[in-house]
Amino acid sequence: MSVVPNHGQFEAWASHHLPDTVQVQQGVWAVPLPLAGDQYVRHTYTYLVVDEAGSVHVIDPGWDTADNRSRLATSLGQIGKRLSDVRTVVSTHRHPDHTGLAPWIREVSGAPLLMHSAEAEAAKWEASVSMAFGFVRRLRSWGASWPDRAKLSRQLWRERRLGDAVGVRADAAVEHDEVLDIPGWRLRVVHTPGHTEGSICLYDETTRSLFSGDTLLPMVHPGIGLSGAAPSSANPLRRYLGSLASLARLDVDMVHPGHGYSFTGLNERLDETIGHHRRRSEEVRSILASQPGISVWQVAERVHWTAGWANLSGYMRLSAVAQTVMHIDYLRGESADEGSTRN
Ligand SMILES: [Zn+2]
Ligand SMILES: [Zn+2]
Repeated sequence: MSVVPNHGQFEAWASHHLPDTVQVQQGVWAVPLPLAGDQYVRHTYTYLVVDEAGSVHVIDPGWDTADNRSRLATSLGQIGKRLSDVRTVVSTHRHPDHTGLAPWIREVSGAPLLMHSAEAEAAKWEASVSMAFGFVRRLRSWGASWPDRAKLSRQLWRERRLGDAVGVRADAAVEHDEVLDIPGWRLRVVHTPGHTEGSICLYDETTRSLFSGDTLLPMVHPGIGLSGAAPSSANPLRRYLGSLASLARLDVDMVHPGHGYSFTGLNERLDETIGHHRRRSEEVRSILASQPGISVWQVAERVHWTAGWANLSGYMRLSAVAQTVMHIDYLRGESADEGSTRN
């Protein structure tokens, strides 16, 4: 077995085109909605799930722009629905590319926005502070020089990463194992902390499909610990690896991610993602062993990033530094564990 992508969506990804809205399984359509700015993942998949009464349930409403509002309305029209047919909106996590259109949908249709309780808590902390801003505040303690911090902040402004509040409020919280109220469906909440503290996947055991949000993506390994200014959990990488292990226990044919393309081969992709993090942890371990006492920023400079450190700017660079911190935390946790087994 290997990872097999949805052909049309993959072709669009590979050729840098925005894919069409397509039906990805019985009763489910994937609507691609571009992100603001020039970002690697390019667009979010907003899923429309039609229940047995003909009502629509939206998973991960994308970035709020005028174009995306009309794209969503047009896609609903293509399947014979209107915005007023939307009954509920559920976001796999609270990033603006997964919650953006929720307030507008709620205004038009009255559909409440559901998120995991940990995510709703974090959003309260962060009503006016963007995720990127939370990281920028920590850059100094991570050893970034003033010119590096100033340059990065300028790039983040240009990318519209600073100043974008992530404060979309949920109307109700969902918890692990809860089955969503969607007639004719058994979509169950799987809490998968890691990307953010309150990230969830939605699992339908009848059709063996998994909506994976940003917890598992086919074309890139998602960032971890992106809960922003809110108090993030200790050791998000360890929690993330635990989440991936819990997904491996599910019987899944098709994965519908937040970005990229739908694909089969869940376990292969889980293995690739786990392997990626383990290799990176090893790399950070050996950098620290050969140059003890260097700053987080200096470790990040020495890691072999796929795109190359020099080519990482703005949010991508910030994310690289943040990921380095997670690996250092993870290694510290591991050596603490070894210490306690020995003692
Ligand atoms: Zn995200
Ligand atoms: Zn995302």
